Amino acid sequence: MRLALNALTDELRRLKASGVERVSVSSEAIEALRASFRQPPPAPPANPEAAAIAPPSSVKEARTASVAAALPVVVLPKGDKAVKWAALLQTVLADPVCVSKLRPGKKAVLGVGSLEAAIMFIGEAPGAEEEIQGEPFVGPAGQLLTRMIAGMGLSRAEVYIGNIMNWRPDLPPGPDGVQTGNRPPTELEMAHCLPYLHAQIEIVNPRLLVALGASAAKALLGARSFSALGEVRGRWHDFGGRPLMVTYHPSYILRNPTNRSKRLIWEDLLKVMERAGLPVSEKQRNFFLTT
Ligand code: URA
Repeated sequence: MRLALNALTDELRRLKASGVERVSVSSEAIEALRASFRQPPPAPPANPEAAAIAPPSSVKEARTASVAAALPVVVLPKGDKAVKWAALLQTVLADPVCVSKLRPGKKAVLGVGSLEAAIMFIGEAPGAEEEIQGEPFVGPAGQLLTRMIAGMGLSRAEVYIGNIMNWRPDLPPGPDGVQTGNRPPTELEMAHCLPYLHAQIEIVNPRLLVALGASAAKALLGARSFSALGEVRGRWHDFGGRPLMVTYHPSYILRNPTNRSKRLIWEDLLKVMERAGLPVSEKQRNFFLTT
């Protein structure tokens, strides 16, 4: 119980330090925490010194690979951004909860891009392609996101692209044993992975965040902060003192490939470009205006 509480209070302290004043906790999450408190205390480490330098996530203390067992606590090493990011990657790869969620041959996914990026895009979760390649946004939605970024005059390598989740949320596989569809992550799953996203924000220290879709917006603004994405999209929000733009997920365009839906997202990205101080040409300003 103490370990789970430490994990929780550490994460709350981290959020508070980054300016977050309110967090909402669902009754499902509270019940899960209660369940984790009922677990037996962890055995003392055989080698306390090794435990101190082991992957810094408190998930090393998880007794079972349950999402509710303990929230990870990320302790970044001293060093430059690359050192911190590499340590974070090792932590995620060693997280037993995360590992337990990967099907054979599939990969955990951390963010990708420039550690000096001014703009960080945040999506929902890896899909089929992403869990194969171990890289976010490389499937159809990712290729569209890459084109959107190019429309802004940037390359993928100049921004940072992350996800709320580090694993692909599971669905029962088809008769061939392969998962076809995707589902949004649960609040508990998101709560487990969020410390890793917060750590990426801390490391990259981008000027602006862009939440792509409802899951990312809920994870960053609070699960109860809106009921329809339209209530929060296209506006600037505050995330720990950092401007956060909420827009639709690229998969929305894949489902509605009209100039109207493209223009909606594009208008949000124009705001991001302006706030980031990027040049906006007349041509860019008029993208997707024709019906
Ligand atoms: N959708 C997401 O939200 N993230 C990915 O990495 C891929 C698709």
